Amino acid sequence: MQATRAGLPTHCDVLVVGAGPAGSACARTLASAGLDVVLVDQHAFPRDKICGDGLIPDAYAALRRLGVLDEVMAQAQPVRHVACIGPSGGRVDVPGTMAVLPRKQLDDILCRAAVSAGARLLPPARFQAPIDEKGVVVGARLKLSEGEGAMSGQTHELRARWVVLATGAVPQALIAAGVCERRTPSGIALRGYVKNDAMVGRIKALEVVWHRKLRPGYGWIFPCRDGVFNIGAGVADSHSLERSGRLGMKDVNLRDVLGAFTEFYAPARELMEGGRLIGEIKGAPLRCTLEGAKFSRPGLLVTGEAAGSTYSFTGEGIGKALETGILAAEAVLNGRIRGADDAGIRASYEAKLATLKPRFGLYEKANRVNRHPWLADLVIWRAKKSERVLSRMAGVLNETSNPGNLVSVKGLSRLFFE
Ligand SMILES: Cc1cc2nc3c(=O)[nH]c(=O)nc-3n(C[C@H](O)[C@H](O)[C@H](O)COP(=O)(O)OP(=O)(O)OC[C@H]3O[C@@H](n4cnc5c(N)ncnc54)[C@H](O)[C@@H]3O)c2cc1C
Repeated sequence: MQATRAGLPTHCDVLVVGAGPAGSACARTLASAGLDVVLVDQHAFPRDKICGDGLIPDAYAALRRLGVLDEVMAQAQPVRHVACIGPSGGRVDVPGTMAVLPRKQLDDILCRAAVSAGARLLPPARFQAPIDEKGVVVGARLKLSEGEGAMSGQTHELRARWVVLATGAVPQALIAAGVCERRTPSGIALRGYVKNDAMVGRIKALEVVWHRKLRPGYGWIFPCRDGVFNIGAGVADSHSLERSGRLGMKDVNLRDVLGAFTEFYAPARELMEGGRLIGEIKGAPLRCTLEGAKFSRPGLLVTGEAAGSTYSFTGEGIGKALETGILAAEAVLNGRIRGADDAGIRASYEAKLATLKPRFGLYEKANRVNRHPWLADLVIWRAKKSERVLSRMAGVLNETSNPGNLVSVKGLSRLFFE
């Protein structure tokens, strides 16, 4: 690896921008295979990321594949059910292998795992623009954060055979790279941490609540360790709602929604009344349904939430960020083995994402529960009466069956008549 006098590399095989789950998974996979990888993030790690911190089965599987599951579980709160709670108070506990770990810890584990595999982590720097030669991305211009030694605040050019953008839901890097197709997010969500030892053992599942006061979204309480709970509310996929002219994100004040959640939902009320808020309640955007950005351009791949890899119905995205990060890495690695050119590597990556697309489409369909919370009552009522419906819900959670089956017209009639 060539480097400047300040020790910063000037060339590498792959520059991965963004050290969230997608970027770190990509960097670890590439570096494990012996590629010269540079990983950069605008923030110094460990850093916070606004999230519900829920690790559902797809995340669990990807963490195992990356070889970090044991380390994650040594710090995480294991969880065995998602509790779906409907507007009339009905509840069904859907089994799955899950966990909760604040993102400050999870992302630090993942970033360190990339470094331990050989990726070189730069000091905090912001991706400003690609270096473009005749339409091909051959590297990036990075602006080092203030206070980063001799290079503080300066721009650094780094040339790479591939640049992978894993910059999450904020669109600035996508715009700068010329791959942004939609600037507005497809959802927003808000969360806070509350310490309340009295609730330990009382909230053990990932509790997800639908109610007309949360329309067109949902509320959640997820148990972390040490008497800390992640509580929040989100509006997922408001993009399609706005497009259809119905109730959308601009009509929703999420702080009011979260306030309502902590009033009508008794466990949330008790949690807040007897608890202590740790830090601020903060919101962040979501990019869902594998929409909103081009997946590639010559010399550049887009992965994780930057590529819209978060599920619209539930706002879950850590698992698919990890998976798509691994897919981007594998496309580069397999392409090198096969001697594929740039176009071949991009095509194989995009083809892999296309195989995930139907699942995202079905989650978008399932999103009608957020718009019509009474549907949650219906599904919960049926799941309580029918093992088969409950196991179908578990199949969705564990990715062995499709969410659309539960809320499509056909799926609804099956819920009634099967
Ligand atoms: C309130 C909320 C609750 C959620 N709850 C859950 C949940 O419980 N479970 C779940 O699975 N998912 C949840 N999600 C979704 C989840 O947070 C995302 O799907 C996931 O973080 C995507 O990972 P990523 O690596 O693609 O992006 P990110 O985790 O956003 O990482 C992107 C990284 O890129 C860096 N970056 C951005 N721009 C630049 C730049 N120009 N230069 C350098 N670095 C840059 C950022 O600093 C960041 O570290 C939630 C989201 C929100 C907003």
